[in-house]
Amino acid sequence: MSEMKLMPMKPYPICCSGDDCERDAEFKMAARWSDGLTEELKTYGMSCGPCLSSLYRQAEIRRSRCRLAMNETIDAIGIYRLSRGRRDVKLERMIQVEQQINQTEQDV
Ligand SMILES: [Zn+2]
Repeated sequence: MSEMKLMPMKPYPICCSGDDCERDAEFKMAARWSDGLTEELKTYGMSCGPCLSSLYRQAEIRRSRCRLAMNETIDAIGIYRLSRGRRDVKLERMIQVEQQINQTEQDV
């Protein structure tokens, strides 16, 4: 009779999507996509605090280049704070952070 070994549950930290960045992600960038029948949250990347504004802009560019079929819509990318142990539906949207980044973009 073989002994069954259970793998220990490891908390897996999510890494920032920034180039050469090894910090843990604190934020998730995602946009709500719909084809009129179903909708889903498309993830555009994970980011730590320092990379957030540049990754958010890159994600917005990728989103704006995304070709959509006639019936498809995609909302602007939202920034959500990641919290350990929380499901996607309960992610907190950081609207103020989005506005701050959009504001600085206009100033440049
Ligand atoms: Zn980073």
